[in-house]
Amino acid sequence: MILSIEQNAKNVKHIVIVGGGFAGVNCARKLSGSANVRITLLDKNNYQQFQPLLYQVATGVLAPSNIAFNLRSTLAGHSNVDVKMTEVVSIDLATRTVETAQGQQYYYDFLVLAAGSQANFFGTPGADQNSYPLYSLHDAERLRSRVLAVFESADRDPSLLAKGALNFVIVGAGPTGTEMAGAFGDMLQSSLKKEVGDREYKELGVDRAQIFLVDGGKAVLSAFSPKAQTYAAKMLEERGVQLRMETRVKEVGGGHVVLSDGTRISTHTVIWAGGLKAASLASNLGINTGHGGRIDVQADLTVPGMTGVYALGDFANIRGKDGGPLPQLASVAEQSGKCCAKNILLDITGKPRDSFHYLDKGIMAMIGRNSGVAEVGEHRHELQGAIAFAAWLGVHAALLSSTRAKIEAFMEWAWGYFGAARGDAILDRTKELPIDWNDDPEEPASAAGRQTNTTP
Ligand SMILES: Cc1cc2nc3c(=O)[nH]c(=O)nc-3n(C[C@H](O)[C@H](O)[C@H](O)COP(=O)(O)OP(=O)(O)OC[C@H]3O[C@@H](n4cnc5c(N)ncnc54)[C@H](O)[C@@H]3O)c2cc1C
Repeated sequence: MILSIEQNAKNVKHIVIVGGGFAGVNCARKLSGSANVRITLLDKNNYQQFQPLLYQVATGVLAPSNIAFNLRSTLAGHSNVDVKMTEVVSIDLATRTVETAQGQQYYYDFLVLAAGSQANFFGTPGADQNSYPLYSLHDAERLRSRVLAVFESADRDPSLLAKGALNFVIVGAGPTGTEMAGAFGDMLQSSLKKEVGDREYKELGVDRAQIFLVDGGKAVLSAFSPKAQTYAAKMLEERGVQLRMETRVKEVGGGHVVLSDGTRISTHTVIWAGGLKAASLASNLGINTGHGGRIDVQADLTVPGMTGVYALGDFANIRGKDGGPLPQLASVAEQSGKCCAKNILLDITGKPRDSFHYLDKGIMAMIGRNSGVAEVGEHRHELQGAIAFAAWLGVHAALLSSTRAKIEAFMEWAWGYFGAARGDAILDRTKELPIDWNDDPEEPASAAGRQTNTTP
């Protein structure tokens, strides 16, 4: 094992940040203004991914380069920040070092844990192996390739439609699942037609494709008002999305899903937007974890009983005004990153830390072209339709890290909006091409429960 314990110059504190997402990057940026610190940011990728737009990569609206940004370039103007691409696997609290999969050790004066989330399959049989989660750039590119591959396969061999080649099942009707379902609806109803023309559209079998959105709750977008939920459901149905509410996915097979009401849907594309838990690092730290496997933090974002250790963003359970945990949102991550930096600087100067107060700017979801819902500010002023759609574009472009990224995303959106065609429907990942169309042994009706013919 390579041992590289880095020691500090006198009076300069070393801050190690694990995770270069919204929380980690904002923390590093704010800390870098102080001459008394040097920062090492460790991330298993050399880029920051912009998760809110992953579904647009998955549906070919945006290219991966529109939503992922090199961390060194992002932090280039900050001379006391060093970025290392490496995966952290454990922490030694006694020696104040973090250890990486590549064998390095980094000594810290302060440690910031901001490693984000991963998919939570809640133990659903087969979900881990057979579904497509949507939590990273890699996931989005893999899903985009699968979607393109099933269309190409069905075009070559239309008999595959009977095996559910063009059935898409989305699990979870929160913002991610709803946005994904709406984008799929737009893609099937308009973008693809525009791209390939009427004849090819028919030959590809797109008019026989089906989208199912499945959720155990009563309505889509559970965090929104009943009015927004009704609007969102209507917009999804107009886009051909079949809603299966108050229904859970019981099993995901190689070529089907089984729902809690016994329905069996043939499909080779199950998209998992069913829930989150803390990144796997959380279970290796020897720290007690709370709801969602996240690290419970105190009001000042420190981890109880651990000197100089902070946890932020999706990796932490941060309490809101009502005492309940704040949701996993980019704005929570961003604000907690800045607050943590401020508290570390207060620690260094021996002053008391501040408590974190979340400034709630509201919530929004895009349902598709010209359709969105937004609840703005703490008092949840409601917007719907084209105005919420425009607000969504503006807010998400503003969150992108560079001016170039903002301009590029806007150009792609404008291209898609006025031309209705997607920019990035290229099938360039050959690994995703082979699909096992026979990986679905027909189950006896008793095992699968009620058999519903959902094949077009
Ligand atoms: C599909 C999707 C859509 C979303 N849409 C919205 C939205 O519309 N609005 C909104 O506000 N929020 C949205 N969110 C939530 C938002 O993206 C997250 O709350 C936010 O990214 C959390 O930031 P973070 O810095 O805590 O974690 P992340 O942004 O996930 O960053 C964590 C970083 O840690 C790195 N990492 C993980 N483990 C290790 C390790 N062991 N070693 C080194 N590095 C590691 C990862 O590579 C990653 O770069 C969405 C999330 C998803 C998945």
